[in-house]
Amino acid sequence: MAVQTVAGNATTASPDLGPAAALSCRECGERFELGPLFACASCFGPLEVAYDLPTGSPEELRKRIEAGPDNIWRYAPLLPVPADVADKPNLNPGFTKLVRADNLARELGVTGGLYVKDDSGNPTHSFKDRVVAIAVEAARAFGFTTLSCSSTGNLAGAVGAAAARAGLRSCVFIPHDLEQGKVVMAAVYGGELVGIEGNYDDVNRFCSELIGDPLGEGWGFVNVNLRPYYGEGSKTLAYEICEQLGWRLPDQIVIPIASGSQLTKIDKGLQELIKLGLVEDRPYKIFGAQAEGCSPVSAAFKAGHDVVRPQKPNTIAKSLAIGNPADGPYVLDIARRTGGAVEDVTDEQVVDAIKLLARTEGIFGETAGGVTLGVTKKLIEAGVIDPTLTTVVVNTGDGLKTLDAVSATSQATATIKPSLDAFRAAGLGTA
Ligand SMILES: *Cc1c(COP(=O)(O)O)cnc(C)c1O
Repeated sequence: MAVQTVAGNATTASPDLGPAAALSCRECGERFELGPLFACASCFGPLEVAYDLPTGSPEELRKRIEAGPDNIWRYAPLLPVPADVADKPNLNPGFTKLVRADNLARELGVTGGLYVKDDSGNPTHSFKDRVVAIAVEAARAFGFTTLSCSSTGNLAGAVGAAAARAGLRSCVFIPHDLEQGKVVMAAVYGGELVGIEGNYDDVNRFCSELIGDPLGEGWGFVNVNLRPYYGEGSKTLAYEICEQLGWRLPDQIVIPIASGSQLTKIDKGLQELIKLGLVEDRPYKIFGAQAEGCSPVSAAFKAGHDVVRPQKPNTIAKSLAIGNPADGPYVLDIARRTGGAVEDVTDEQVVDAIKLLARTEGIFGETAGGVTLGVTKKLIEAGVIDPTLTTVVVNTGDGLKTLDAVSATSQATATIKPSLDAFRAAGLGTA
C-alpha cells in the first residue's frame, strides 16, 4: 500500500477505496487527496469522488458486473470501495426490483413502457441504505469509530442499522416531530437517537457545529464530512435501472428531491455508463419531484432562476422536507440540460398517488413515493412527460413508515360478527 504525506506532515497509509483516485471540486476542479473532506479549500465548492475507471472492453466489464453479487457490490469497480468489500460486515443493499407497471401505465395512458424502481425493498426500507453502505466503507478507511448524520428520518434508520452491523457506535440527529415509524426504525438498532427541536435545516446546522467541536472528533457524519462518498451510493440506482432494462438508458426518469444529492448522482451514474460504453449514448430526460409545502427547487425551476431560495417546510412528505437543499442549483442544471423539469404536488395529491400505486401495482410507497408518482401524473397530463417513451419512476421508501398519510382513508371496509348472515347483511363480498 502506498504511503504518502498529508497536510500537517503526518504520514499515513493512503486509504484503500478501490478505483477512487482523489476528491475533485465540482466548481473549480481542484483535486485533493482522499479524506473526510467535503468542501473545496479554494472556492468552498462541493467535492466529489474522481476515479481511475476500468479500461477493459465494455463486454468484459458487463460480464464482470453480471457475475457479481445481487446487491450494489456488483458495481464495486465503479464505486469508492475496496475490492474485497463484499466480504465486510455491511448490509449489502441494492439490486431492488424494477417493476414493469402495466396496470399503472394503462391508468395514466403511458404506452412506451412504465417502470417503478422499488427501493422500499432495501434492508431498512428506503434508498438511504445505498448511500450509507458506501459511507460505512469510507468511515472504516478513515478510522472513524462513530457513525452519525443529520436526517429527515430514513437516513437515521439506515445509519443505525449499518453501524450495528459494522460494529461502529452511532449517534444520529432528527427533527423531533417525525413519524412514529421513522423514529422507531432509527431507535431500534441500539445507537443514540437525538430529536432536535427544529426542522431539518436546524438539525443540519447543529451537526456542522458538532463537527468543529472536540466532541465530534472521530465521528463520520455520513452526509457531511463523508458526503462525497455517501453521494456515490445513489449512482447504483442508475446502474441498476439500466442493467435491468437490458443495458439500456430509459428515456425519462422521475426522482424525488430532498437535498438533491440522489438526483445529481443518478445523472452522474448514467453519464459514467455512457462513457464506459456500457449503454448506447442517446438522450434521456431527468425530472425532479417535490411537495408543494417544500418546493424550493421546483419554484426556482418554474421561475427560470439559477439560485434556490430557501423555504420553511410544511408538508406530510417529511423525508423530502429540506428547505435549503445543498444540491439545488445542480438539480436545476441537470433538469434544464436534459430537457426535463422540476414540479411539485399538494399533500392531497401525494396521498392520492400513494393509493394509486398501491391499487394498481400492489406497491405501498411512503410519502416520497407519492410525491414522485404524483408529479409523474401531473407532468403526463401537462404533456411534459411523453407517454410514448420509456419512463422510470423511483419509489424511494416504504409506506409502513408513513402510515399516518393514509390511515384516515385506509381502514377496514366493515367490522362484523363472525357469521355469514352478518357478512351478507352488510352487503359485502359482492364487489
Ligand atoms: C432522503 C430521501 C430522498 C432524497 O434524498 P436527497 O437528499 O435528495 O438525496 C428521497 N426519498 C426518500 C424516501 C428519502 O429518505
